[in-house]
Amino acid sequence: MSVAEIFQSMAYGPAPESAAPAQEWLEAHAPALPLFINNRMVTPREATYFDSVNPATGQPLIKVAQAGTADVEDAVRAAREALKDWKRTPGHLRARYLYGLARQVQKHARLLAVLESMDNGKPIRESRDIDIPLVARHFYHHAGWAQLMDEEFPGHEPVGVVGAIIPWNFPLLMLAWKVAPALATGNTVVLKPAEFTSLTAILFCELAQRAGLPPGVLNVVTGDGQTGALLVEHPGVDKIAFTGSTEVGRLIRRATAGSGKCLSLELGGKSPFVVFDDADLDSVVEGVVDAIWFNQGQVCCAGSRLLVQEGVAPRLLERLRARMEHLRVGDPLDKAIDIGAIVAPVQLEKIRRLVEQGRAEGATPWQPSWACPTDGYFFPPTLFTDVAPASTIAQVEIFGPVIAAMTFRTKSEAVALANNTPYGLAASVWSENINMALDVARAIKAGTVWINSTNLFDAASGFGGYRESGFGREGGREGLHEYLREPWEAQGTEAAGSETLPLAANGHGEAPSSGVDATATAPLAEADGARGNGHSSDELPPLGLPAIDRTPKMFIGGKQARPDSGYSRTVLAPDGRYLGEVGEGNRKDIRNAVEAAHAASGWATATAHNRAQILYYIAENLSTRGQEFAARLATMTGQPLAEAERELEATIERLFCYGGWADKYDGSVHATPLRGLTIAAHEPIGVMGLICDDRQPLLGFVSLVAPAIAMGNTVVAVPSERYPLAATDLYQVFETSDLPPGVVNIVTGARETLARVLAEHDDVDAVWYAGPDSGARQVELASAGNMKRTWMLNRPPRDWRDPAQGQGRSFLREATQVKNIWVPYGD
Ligand code: NDP
Repeated sequence: MSVAEIFQSMAYGPAPESAAPAQEWLEAHAPALPLFINNRMVTPREATYFDSVNPATGQPLIKVAQAGTADVEDAVRAAREALKDWKRTPGHLRARYLYGLARQVQKHARLLAVLESMDNGKPIRESRDIDIPLVARHFYHHAGWAQLMDEEFPGHEPVGVVGAIIPWNFPLLMLAWKVAPALATGNTVVLKPAEFTSLTAILFCELAQRAGLPPGVLNVVTGDGQTGALLVEHPGVDKIAFTGSTEVGRLIRRATAGSGKCLSLELGGKSPFVVFDDADLDSVVEGVVDAIWFNQGQVCCAGSRLLVQEGVAPRLLERLRARMEHLRVGDPLDKAIDIGAIVAPVQLEKIRRLVEQGRAEGATPWQPSWACPTDGYFFPPTLFTDVAPASTIAQVEIFGPVIAAMTFRTKSEAVALANNTPYGLAASVWSENINMALDVARAIKAGTVWINSTNLFDAASGFGGYRESGFGREGGREGLHEYLREPWEAQGTEAAGSETLPLAANGHGEAPSSGVDATATAPLAEADGARGNGHSSDELPPLGLPAIDRTPKMFIGGKQARPDSGYSRTVLAPDGRYLGEVGEGNRKDIRNAVEAAHAASGWATATAHNRAQILYYIAENLSTRGQEFAARLATMTGQPLAEAERELEATIERLFCYGGWADKYDGSVHATPLRGLTIAAHEPIGVMGLICDDRQPLLGFVSLVAPAIAMGNTVVAVPSERYPLAATDLYQVFETSDLPPGVVNIVTGARETLARVLAEHDDVDAVWYAGPDSGARQVELASAGNMKRTWMLNRPPRDWRDPAQGQGRSFLREATQVKNIWVPYGD
């Protein structure tokens, strides 16, 4: 080609990166890579291996070990043993180790990048300039957190042994996202890389040896999904940190249900890329390239749905096609390549199948005129138009270089389309009108929103999903909480007697179990017999007249509601006296309550000041009726009146506490390298199901309801099964306190039955559960349906009277989700 021709075509020549050092490393380890357990490279006990293949050539690179039961056992044992010292290692020392790891990554950056590209198929430009620098950044950032741990998280304890399971799309980066925060906070780790991409994890272990990381602090067991499942099920693992498909996330949710294991899930997505007609279209085109062709579209937060305002759609699509024509697919080690190889034939097949399905469902695919190389697993960039919002390619995560374009007319239509997905991982909004862009960013249900930008990540900013994209955050301060226990929890798990915290003292020295109580559901005849004159002594009617029957109802949509079942359950005092009846709630009552809670969604946009005012007003009105409430509590639970008065006072104080917090649980601005702002905004989760235990029934109820509504959620609360009258009495207070209808809904009845219905309900976004372990397991299992967030308040059981256990930041954190909004600035 002559110079004149080069000037004419402006085509890049090949710019190959040398694979020689990586080849040498592979040859030095041939024929098979070991496992890394207790600081030693070991062969798997059963000596089973599989090939790791270069997706750009289809040729095997090396064999990888398949860890079995005994290997996972060894790794977990090593991690448990190491935990004892590692969690007591001073923060400064841990900081030095993490710093050392960051340094090692930097010193071997090119080898890591080349090996990653050979193993995964991603372009060297990306592994060299994005993946590996971000890995180093993660270790540096978390070295800082290790240093600051005592100051910023006093009294907190690590969760324990973390089982980290990661996917193949960002092998080393996902390792860093999990290992760095886990080690910084004093946990030890057993990591399982993805079957397709284990190489850099083993190389990283060699770097960890050089950095002098103590034995057992980091262990790596390679293998397929079965190895992952062994880790998930191992009783010696305290937390599973998973990134991968929603399908496997759901399996893991079910497998860990009731085990007490902590869980964070970073799952799939179908993220919208929203373009308004005033956007800078040239920037948009580059944004789309980055959104869907970065890493061949194998990105959980890929902007795979292009939503364009109708007026600019033809112009944008024309420019996009012209740009696509110039994209280059090919050898990942060529520095002039835009798109590399798809990780494996199975993934390539999945992409092909979904593209065919898109065509069959009536959408129109467009691909550039050039052909992909045929000696590896390549797929061309693909743009679909004429896409129906409900069609498969608009709903299903393709995880490949395929984008589905749709149009909208108005801002509200854009938001509706953007939210028309079960996922909620990320979104990108393009407009020169920053007011509108921020407005749209707040309205889209996603954990990260980029304004006029896309696919920006940093260790200082949390990343994670809403809805079926999972729960928990990785990165930033918010990510650290995933690896820490609150001070009282740490003490509680160490204290042997924690399981036997007193329930509401009943004055008879009894501590009723928190399971379903037979007396509370006593048949009518028995209850009738028990009540003697039919009324408790504190309700004796004057002048021998029969008392006017008090009928506490449920509270749904701001109205008192009778139970759908037409049945009531009897509430007895501890000495068997009849106290009253409450409705026997069922599935339909929950459905009505959830509908009412959704209808009250305006609460989320009420000002925090307004929410605070209402919480104070509830406290004020409760105080006015204090004597009545205390007497009722004493009669119901059998506790001395003085004790009941203390519970009432504590309840009022708790309401004040959250009145105070309502406008103070701020988000933050993260210090990412972006020239702009990365705003971490706290947002309500939505509709929450709150299931109370029987401890301090009034205080316990308010301890759940108040933080949830303070943060803008609406709730369906199931009060104490044994002492429900504490909550049903409260609705009269709500009615007089300006609380908008539907913000708090109360359904009485059998705790476990109602908990299950709430956990299974697809329109409930989170469930908090205080109750026995068997019920906790049921809630966690059922929550896998729509991957709703759950919080178990029974591990260990809480004494609501203790502010360290019953209130504070952990409640606010669980009542909110963090949305990171990235807003670049400058011309
Ligand atoms: P998976 O969710 O199956 O894999 C993620 C990790 O979990 C891997 O390490 C995998 O092991 C492991 N794993 C698989 N099964 C189990 C199990 N039962 N218990 C514990 N761990 C398990 O993703 P795939 O790699 O199979 O990809 C399938 C699809 O998932 C892709 O087509 C893509 O659509 C999506 N995906 C989404 C990702 C995201 O970040 N959103 C990331 C990766 C994939 P192994 O690799 O050995 O199977």
